[in-house]
Amino acid sequence: MPESPIPQNSSMVPPPLPTVPLNYRSGSGGIDEAAWHTAGRLFAMDKAILPNRCIKCNGTEDVRMKRKQFTWAPPIVYLGLLGGLLPCIILVMVLQKKATVTYGMCAVHRRKRWNVTWISLGTLAFSIFLFVMAGVLENGIPVIFGILGILGALIYAAVAGPVLKPHKIDQSIIQLKGCGPVFLQSLPNTQWE
Ligand SMILES: [Zn+2]
Repeated sequence: MPESPIPQNSSMVPPPLPTVPLNYRSGSGGIDEAAWHTAGRLFAMDKAILPNRCIKCNGTEDVRMKRKQFTWAPPIVYLGLLGGLLPCIILVMVLQKKATVTYGMCAVHRRKRWNVTWISLGTLAFSIFLFVMAGVLENGIPVIFGILGILGALIYAAVAGPVLKPHKIDQSIIQLKGCGPVFLQSLPNTQWE
């Protein structure tokens, strides 16, 4: 029987598994063609994988990649509101475009993102508590603060929650707002849109 080509004197310890198991292209290939920046915005091809760095601070330590699908509809859909909510919803469904981008965030910025979630949920929970208190005390004043709390939590979550916000999706190119300037500067710059 021929000898196995595998060297028998090698250590039996298997190679370490990658810390981030990705089923798709790793962050090293084709990035220059897939993402660039203009006018403070990130431009990326649909399904682009951004460099393995934090999109907020450009840090490389403990970066985790996240794949996210963005949806965007042109502002004209809001004209549909003139005819009521239903025409607006139909316009959104017909005209909306989608693009997927994989981006990285460091531990510090992932924690900041979670803080927004916990503060929003905490405010919502406290608002519900105020509604209960209004019932127990048979006093309407806590309801007012409860409604303000719910509105505040929803607005805060909508404004501070999204890490990246789509500015436009055209053909198969997505424009995103929310990347840090140092990260943007690390990408190629083009003057055309
Ligand atoms: Zn960061």
